[in-house]
Amino acid sequence: MQIALFTCLADNYAVLLRDEATAVVALVDAPASEPVIAELEKRGWGLDLILITHRHHDHIEGVPALVARYGAKVIAPALAADVLPGADRFVKEGDRLQIGEIAVEVWDTPGHCADHISYHLPAEQVIFVGDTMFTMGCGRIFNLPPEMLYASLQRIGALPEATRIYSGHEYTLSNARFAIATEPDNAAIAARFKTIEAMRASGTPTVPTTVAEERATNVFLRARDVAEFAARREAKNRF
Ligand code: ZN
Ligand code: FE
Repeated sequence: MQIALFTCLADNYAVLLRDEATAVVALVDAPASEPVIAELEKRGWGLDLILITHRHHDHIEGVPALVARYGAKVIAPALAADVLPGADRFVKEGDRLQIGEIAVEVWDTPGHCADHISYHLPAEQVIFVGDTMFTMGCGRIFNLPPEMLYASLQRIGALPEATRIYSGHEYTLSNARFAIATEPDNAAIAARFKTIEAMRASGTPTVPTTVAEERATNVFLRARDVAEFAARREAKNRF
């Protein structure tokens, strides 16, 4: 599988996946159409599928123009049908789809918003988590009990250590600063902060991350219980 990650809007990421056996190409989230078209043109790829993680505008705005240009089929969360009424398929926990020969499993990962889903590619050891988890961080909670996002993070964090986690935003420098303030004695966090600083100084994306790195340095995933998680999420909102 070929994977191309690129920036859209100010700090969103979109990802193109290409199954080499069948040349089927899928896009995960569509923050805007222009950067996606530019990436496809550069690579000489078509676009067959668009996989949407959740309803927020910075993840779906590019859909109509991309469907019009490429005739791509849209896969959308079942609970986001009201904002994506023209989608070709609505999916939820336990549903399966194919990107060519690559198997994809749908997870319900609510907490950032209620409709949020993630796409897990077990054979590739890759998961696309949208705004559920970020590198060293997690999404904001919009009017939902913190238990939901906490459970979604714990589930992602229980995947095999080598699993690569692709998220929807480059928020890592801010997340790393908050992590240091939250766990000042954590040597893994201090070391990773330096790495992250250097990566961002050279314009290198900090996505994807891995389950192993997040277990060591993500203070939201590392929270001992839901109360500590909720307190950290609240503190990050004001950080
Ligand atoms: Zn969002
Ligand atoms: Fe977002």
